[in-house]
Amino acid sequence: MSELLTRLQNESKDKAIYRQALDHALAYLDSLKDRPAFPTAPALDALQSLDERLPEGPCNTSDILRLLHEIGAPAAVAQGGGRYFGFVNGGVIPAALAARLLADVWDQNAALRIMSPIAAKLEAICETWLLDLLDLPKGSAAGFVSGTSTATLCGLLAGRNAILSRQGWDVAERGLFGAPPIRLVMSEAVHGSVFKALGILGIGQAQIEVVAADDQGRFDARQLPQLDETTLLILQAGNVNSGAFDDFAGICAAAQQAKSWVHVDGAFGLWARACQATARLTTGIELADSWSVDAHKTLNSPYDCGVVFCKDRLTLAGALQASGSYLHFSEARDGMLYTPEMSRRARGIELWALLKALGRAGVDELVAQLCARARQFADELARRKFRILNDVVFNQVLVACERPELTRETLRAIQASGECWCGGSEWRGEPVIRISVCSWATTEADLRRSVAAFVAARSGALSMI
Ligand SMILES: *Cc1c(COP(=O)(O)O)cnc(C)c1O
Repeated sequence: MSELLTRLQNESKDKAIYRQALDHALAYLDSLKDRPAFPTAPALDALQSLDERLPEGPCNTSDILRLLHEIGAPAAVAQGGGRYFGFVNGGVIPAALAARLLADVWDQNAALRIMSPIAAKLEAICETWLLDLLDLPKGSAAGFVSGTSTATLCGLLAGRNAILSRQGWDVAERGLFGAPPIRLVMSEAVHGSVFKALGILGIGQAQIEVVAADDQGRFDARQLPQLDETTLLILQAGNVNSGAFDDFAGICAAAQQAKSWVHVDGAFGLWARACQATARLTTGIELADSWSVDAHKTLNSPYDCGVVFCKDRLTLAGALQASGSYLHFSEARDGMLYTPEMSRRARGIELWALLKALGRAGVDELVAQLCARARQFADELARRKFRILNDVVFNQVLVACERPELTRETLRAIQASGECWCGGSEWRGEPVIRISVCSWATTEADLRRSVAAFVAARSGALSMI
């Protein structure tokens, strides 16, 4: 037997490398509370030591793991630490992380039931549970994908094909060239991932009707154009900056009457529906045709875990198999019918574990806590004379200083401090500091420390400019 095969057999049998990996992982978890929210400059500089030519021969596995621990871990972003407020990057619920570790060892392929009965079973359960939790139409299909970008692509794909099908055009058979025109209506405040999806779907700039957003970044319902059955309409539950929700009740009712297809990008905001205190933000959302959501944001599952829901199971599955009416359903639920991929990791396993670990009440509490902390953050900053630019209806806060230049410098100083981490954005023509409270691990002590970091950063910036 070759030297390599002997080594693989030994590693597999004696399991020391798995124990070492777990030790390093646990040490990382222990360090989370106190490590800087973003890697230090020396930690980033040390990454250069990884630059080398492709090794000609094997390297020792234990050394590789040590390198990851010593050079890699310090350069990891401490998203789970409680003081990371960048983008909308959620934390991780321990039960979900543990289930994922276990499932990673199982290494299942979730394409077909016959490939992994356990993965198929848990996806089927997650489908039912999520429709219940999010109060979406019974019988809707769920596709378990990498994130909302892919989920949105799938929802819009289903909508595009349904609209063309109603006009007697079968995309699976005839393709898109020469197809009847369709209209795409969306607000100027859509997320960047929508543009990626539209590009892939062959929907060009000239087909897009952009509606102005109101002062909170909501689709301005007063400017809703005349809708018809050739219209694909995109709405948003949770503006990525302000966290604002579109007026679903009004707009979806009009769309339903006109027989337009509505897709809702609910990447982080759809979870508002699973919380008594915020559910009203999503009233009417059930009238849409498809929805996308991330479990790895508000729900705090590990990356990568998104879901597309589609009211019409056959339309979603047909669009993704490009097989139109030739679709074959087996008795079991084959996950790949509802996703673009065939081979896929079994993300339903940790999602199931998470939902079971929290239950309905736990999800309610998680979402409520994120929102409460966001409001608290905003109140504390307002008390210290920062300007809060949005209505804090969910987990997002937009902050500015008196002058744009001061806002920019303060943000730079916050990021450099390592005390907490926020990203920047532009809001109604001015630079803002963007806070997303998106981890269960954020405590009131984390908030106090972060608010102090904001104040210190602004003082430092004031003395500089
Ligand atoms: C994060 C986000 C997306 C993209 O989701 P990914 O999981 O990164 O693919 C889309 N829309 C909104 C509103 C988001 O916040």
